[in-house]
Amino acid sequence: MAKKDHFLITCEHGGNRTPSRYRHLFAGFEALLQTHCGYDAGALALARELAKALDAPLFASTTSRLLVDLNRSIGHPRLYSEATRDAPAGVRSEILERHYLPHRNKVEAEIAAAIVRGSRVIHVASHSFTPALDGAVRNADIGLLYDPARPGEAELCRRWQTQLRALAPNLKVRRNYPYAGKSDGFTSYLRRRFPAEAYIGIELEINQKHVFNGGRGGGGLGGGVLGAFSPARSAL
Ligand SMILES: [Zn+2]
Repeated sequence: MAKKDHFLITCEHGGNRTPSRYRHLFAGFEALLQTHCGYDAGALALARELAKALDAPLFASTTSRLLVDLNRSIGHPRLYSEATRDAPAGVRSEILERHYLPHRNKVEAEIAAAIVRGSRVIHVASHSFTPALDGAVRNADIGLLYDPARPGEAELCRRWQTQLRALAPNLKVRRNYPYAGKSDGFTSYLRRRFPAEAYIGIELEINQKHVFNGGRGGGGLGGGVLGAFSPARSAL
């Protein structure tokens, strides 16, 4: 019998808050906090829409990725940013305890519990990307990131892309763009914890040009993304 699907939405870069305890570390980085380096504009609004539409739990962080990046593994050179990487080791490990592990551990525990109950978990991590990076214009509106070695992920993204193209032919939807889904990230970490048949981890990447043009924080794009998700999933 097919496993029941359990949806789970996360947002690792949902805001650019800096906790008052660590605010002194951000002197000189105020402008950077407002850019795509500080947070993923629109990603939280889209995560909320996805969670509501799928009746799925949402785990989101609104603390800036410049404090500690929830989408990097421990040991990754960019786990801490230019604002925090030179802080004393004690401060860095406290940041990890207070702002990194709670989110990561909660999500991992939720997935483990759903799998124990016999479900297959479909985790969608909501992110957004800057329209141009280092002078190169990104040639996509939506990116679906997955590990090509995990057949369930590849199949879901292929179907999701097909549905999105049909529903919103003016949007350019690409797979494993602008990043490779199997490079370091929260979903990559979770793939090592859970088997392919029980865990599907997808990063949804929205071009921030839609966030700023649409005004309502990614909402303009949400309808199409959501509308395409249900048929894509039921087709599996
Ligand atoms: Zn992100």
